[in-house]
Amino acid sequence: MSFIVAIDGPAGTGKGTITKLLAQKLNLVEIDTGAMYRCITLECIRNNISSENEERIKEILKNIKIELKHINGEQKVFLNGEDVSKKIRTPEVDDLVAVFAALKVVRDKVTPMQRKMGEKDDIIMEGRDIGTVVFPNADVKIFLDCSIEERARRRYKQNLEKDINESYEEVLASMKERHKLETEREIAPLVKADDAILVDSTNMTIDEVVEKIASIIIEKR
Ligand code: C5P
Repeated sequence: MSFIVAIDGPAGTGKGTITKLLAQKLNLVEIDTGAMYRCITLECIRNNISSENEERIKEILKNIKIELKHINGEQKVFLNGEDVSKKIRTPEVDDLVAVFAALKVVRDKVTPMQRKMGEKDDIIMEGRDIGTVVFPNADVKIFLDCSIEERARRRYKQNLEKDINESYEEVLASMKERHKLETEREIAPLVKADDAILVDSTNMTIDEVVEKIASIIIEKR
């Protein structure tokens, strides 16, 4: 049986960075589930398919190939054989991904893929519904939270580093919109599992959060 760590929480909490550092530190395979929803969104944008067109989304999903590969310690995302690691992180995908991720057809495709990824390796999987839906029996469940203003500030800074020009106000507005969609959707909404440990990173450094979660994992393992 593999050992499973579930890390859930909203966007901009540092979840991605923290998961990566924990994976390296504790020798776990890192799985970023948001990347999978981002790939589907990108493929729909490229094919001009709206979120209302369930038939065409189904067609796309039939043949889509999403791979998360670990190359030189870094996770790379491949969509139908193409490295889209950067292309899935544009403001355009940011704005649409929560709409596609709320669809039943999309989740019905992605959730079983994620369960399969946890079959052989010891993993640390990050997302929104890992501790509630994908692995309700995960060995460790963490809910990573942070104030929305701080989350928007961090995303704004990340964007600047990537030469993406969006004002703080725009980032905050889009983050609020995404948060509403994620927490209010019918299927697999973003919610803390009853047995998840809450970690609030608002006033913590990345290193402090990593230390805290690492000690929880080590104790359980
Ligand atoms: O974590 P990240 O921001 O890359 O996730 C992108 C989007 O994918 C989220 O806004 C959310 O709507 C969706 N998602 C999800 N369930 C997950 C992971 C991500 O619905 N387990």
